[in-house]
Amino acid sequence: MNNLKQNEVWFLTGSQHLYGEETLRQVAENSQVIAKELNQADDISVSIIFKPIVKTAEEIYAVCQEASQNKACIGVITWMHTFSPAKMWIGGLKILQKPMLHLHTQFNRDIPWDSIDMDFMNLNQSAHGDREFGFMVSRMKIQRKVVVGHWKSDRVKKQIDTWARAASAWADWQGAKFARFGDNMRNVAVTEGDKVEAELQFGFAVNTFAVGDLVAYINAVSDSEIKTLVETYESAYLLADSLKSNGDRRTSLLDAAQIEIGMRKFLQEGGFKGFTNTFEDLHGMKQLPGIGTQRLMAEGYGYAGEGDWKTAALVRAMKVMGTGLEGGNAFMEDYTYHFEPENNMVLGAHMLEVDPVLASGKPSCEVHPLGIGGKEDPVRLVFNGKSGPSLNASLVDMGNRFRLVVNEVEAVEVPHALPKLPVARVMWKPLPDINTGCAGWIYAGGAHHTCFSQSLTTEHLDDFAKIAGIENITIDKNSNLRQLQNEIRWSEKYYS
Ligand code: MN
Repeated sequence: MNNLKQNEVWFLTGSQHLYGEETLRQVAENSQVIAKELNQADDISVSIIFKPIVKTAEEIYAVCQEASQNKACIGVITWMHTFSPAKMWIGGLKILQKPMLHLHTQFNRDIPWDSIDMDFMNLNQSAHGDREFGFMVSRMKIQRKVVVGHWKSDRVKKQIDTWARAASAWADWQGAKFARFGDNMRNVAVTEGDKVEAELQFGFAVNTFAVGDLVAYINAVSDSEIKTLVETYESAYLLADSLKSNGDRRTSLLDAAQIEIGMRKFLQEGGFKGFTNTFEDLHGMKQLPGIGTQRLMAEGYGYAGEGDWKTAALVRAMKVMGTGLEGGNAFMEDYTYHFEPENNMVLGAHMLEVDPVLASGKPSCEVHPLGIGGKEDPVRLVFNGKSGPSLNASLVDMGNRFRLVVNEVEAVEVPHALPKLPVARVMWKPLPDINTGCAGWIYAGGAHHTCFSQSLTTEHLDDFAKIAGIENITIDKNSNLRQLQNEIRWSEKYYS
């Protein structure tokens, strides 16, 4: 997950045999230059691989077939350097199983005013060649991202990277396994969903595992493993006095470490990319996992509480999308409000499981009672989240489709000490304002569970929703409630 460069995006250049060998040689040469530039760009996190230019229906079909089956290939960039009659593309596009970005560019940035002749015009035809191609993709109702501009521009490279990150997350989901310990929290609606439909639509599998099987892993942990992990806790966090080596709650820390090690082994051995559990189903466990879950999330596992497998999978996808970017992606819950006029804020947290990738400063490691679950007091990391532009994303099951709801927010410094609050917390102001942001969210059916992102933009999530073929409702600084409600109504009709 730490290196997106192993992911390949294949650069496919369309042309035809109309122009003669010299023109085709030039087309191939130019395409190689562009692919090389994109491959070496600091702004692009994946590898861009040049493929021989395609000039016939047979060549197009062959490369689309190869791209669809190649494991390293996570998507294709298409570009029509010259005209490439699009009926030739039908067969290939019909079988293409990978995300597509249509790069609408041109080799020459500027028109060579003094020397332009018909040879130049014939060589540099993407202005109409890409329109012919685009028509066919639209007619075939294939989702893709269209990026327009000169290939050397920073904006174009960043847009390609945004899409490539979404495509990387999509590739990560294909065949992914998520473990669900127990069922959903009883009677909760939004965290439920159709796991069969999710596997069809998204490519990942969610299956249940008995808590007792996890407990067997926890019970098998050795004292020396616990000792090593506790040393990590001691160096990485500010330990509460009661948890220190002579503290009266030291045993709680050892128990928490044992739970973490058992969970990690279970997840590693099963090849899982994420998990969910519920405080209603902890038979045989001493504590609801707090610090263990927090640290597993920080390592890249997707997680959400109370059996919420959809959010667990979304958290994993967003972590992949955000690989190497500044800021974290984390499971979050809108918890409580600050309704001060002109200074409205949301306090986001969870019972325990807030991901320390969000922390500003060194987290403290504490133990406190938990009012629910009926287990021993769980150990957790406590910290404040960072300020800055952020967003919340939520994946909900509307019955006949999945919907992604996204709200841009401005995270703020936690303005006061919170001496009695025993959980990590993040504070933010929804855009464009708290009324539009929260009312829009509720109209759209967005969940209380989200993935909170400090590193991704609405463009990443828009690209991801397109690749996944699902509805996306975005609430940003330009949103207004009337338009938003109309969008929801029209969308309802579109999907019905
Ligand atoms: Mn929750």
